[in-house]
Amino acid sequence: MVSQVHDAYRRSQTFSPETLASITSELVRIVGADRVWSGQQAQQRYPGDKSWLTIVHAHHGRPLNQPELAAAPTTVEQVAKIMQFASSTKLAVTPLGGGSGVQGAANANLGGLLLDLTGLNRIREVDEQSLTCTVECGMNVMAFDAELGKCGLTFTHDPASAEWASIGGAIAARGSGVLSTRYGNIQDHVLSVEVVLPDGQVVQLPAVPRHGVGPELSQLFVGSEGVLGIVTAARVKVQRQPKARRFSAIQFPSLAAGIAAGQEIMTTGLRPAVIRLYDAKATALSLSKIVRSSLEGVAMVVMVEGQHAALVDLESSTCEQICISHGGKLLDAQMGQLWWDNRYDMSRPPHSPELPQIWMTMDAVSDFRSIQGLYDGVTQALAKSIDPKWGLTLKTHLSHWYEWGAMIYARVGVPRGPDNLDEAVALHDQIVAAAVRATLAAGGVINDHHGVGMRLAPHMAAQFGSAGMSLLQGVKSGLDPAGILCPGKLGLNSSISI
Ligand SMILES: Cc1cc2nc3c(=O)[nH]c(=O)nc-3n(C[C@H](O)[C@H](O)[C@H](O)COP(=O)(O)OP(=O)(O)OC[C@H]3O[C@@H](n4cnc5c(N)ncnc54)[C@H](O)[C@@H]3O)c2cc1C
Repeated sequence: MVSQVHDAYRRSQTFSPETLASITSELVRIVGADRVWSGQQAQQRYPGDKSWLTIVHAHHGRPLNQPELAAAPTTVEQVAKIMQFASSTKLAVTPLGGGSGVQGAANANLGGLLLDLTGLNRIREVDEQSLTCTVECGMNVMAFDAELGKCGLTFTHDPASAEWASIGGAIAARGSGVLSTRYGNIQDHVLSVEVVLPDGQVVQLPAVPRHGVGPELSQLFVGSEGVLGIVTAARVKVQRQPKARRFSAIQFPSLAAGIAAGQEIMTTGLRPAVIRLYDAKATALSLSKIVRSSLEGVAMVVMVEGQHAALVDLESSTCEQICISHGGKLLDAQMGQLWWDNRYDMSRPPHSPELPQIWMTMDAVSDFRSIQGLYDGVTQALAKSIDPKWGLTLKTHLSHWYEWGAMIYARVGVPRGPDNLDEAVALHDQIVAAAVRATLAAGGVINDHHGVGMRLAPHMAAQFGSAGMSLLQGVKSGLDPAGILCPGKLGLNSSISI
């Protein structure tokens, strides 16, 4: 059996019917017949993630997600057994959470087994004293928050994809949510992970991240996109539901003035939950739709929340004063509330893009010293990245702010790209490459919270350099010497070594 699987994968990445039957029967033994699918059944059940690359390839009948098999375990023991089996047979495994990624990371593009983790969806423990919760990886983010709500708690990782994304997917993609400016990105929510290693060993890492027992290994798996191990559960921070919330909406004379205000807010110890600064195009074409008003120029929405109304009022009015001191003009605060109520609108029909458009987001991050240069460099590079005949559209906002910097989020659209798939993909890649070059030239990092996937994998070496890639490859080779987990992802070596 072992050599059959090796040979099948190496030769054609397609299993012979006998090998497929043999692997299937082992998976059935582990998870039950009703949780294993093979061939076309597996591919129809799991069409791939939500990246444009995945969607356009599937539309043209050349799907990127091509698992020979899919299995849906429901316990960590089953995941461990599957990985023991996969490691002994050199079976490629791609973990799948909610499939809402936008980079093509969850695609089993080299075949093998797709491991649907959404069956691991229990809350194991809520610690109301410490405000922590141990939750399994497959639990949906929105469902998790709803469960916490029953005891007055909330999960402050709130991505626009909460209704699809899983906890494990958020951790693996190093995601972020709309409240990140106060509560941090997912890495700031994770205290500890339970992980199944490629050889099937189950590791429980130290329960809290502030310790002196060597490096903080839980964080090694945050952002690892499934290449180092399978995160089966995590202990995460939760919060009490806020008792007070205040909104502000501000118009600025320029983007630079808005950035200066955001920088002063973040570097003087204030922590609004939301600062969203829209450039003129994004104000006119996105924010105006969200707040149901026709706005012009550069606009910002600020939201402050917390347990103590007096502190919230003070923090909110202090943020407003800082904005005014940078030339900001207060708009009706009700716009902030409207923004909150409709904050996911641009990711949903009728505003979300569809084929035949080409669409993507380029989210890059830098310190404050480089942020204006990053915005200028990336937006100019994107605008010039393709022949004007394609009519590229661009709307950019800054939505995740840190005490040292911020991210820019450029939404790119090409209203009608080439009909030919290869030409359309080449155009897409040309746009991505232009943004990556401009980001690196400006001193930025090429992604803030969407991860690498297939879209940015070719640019990982430009980001990390050869020594950095050796470091990453060394970690990968140490944990997964055969390269069975997510082969080819994170820009690492794609061949399964036998
Ligand atoms: C409309 C829309 C809006 C979005 N908004 C946001 C946003 O606001 N913020 C944000 O951060 N992202 C956003 N995203 C992107 C996406 O939803 C996130 O990256 C999300 O965290 C992915 O979670 P998932 O469960 O769907 O992961 P998947 O897409 O299933 O997987 C993502 C990666 O993680 C790996 N993986 C999944 N589960 C595990 C696990 N348990 N262990 C190890 N590896 C695993 C997969 O192999 C893959 O590499 C958005 C996407 C869409 C379509």
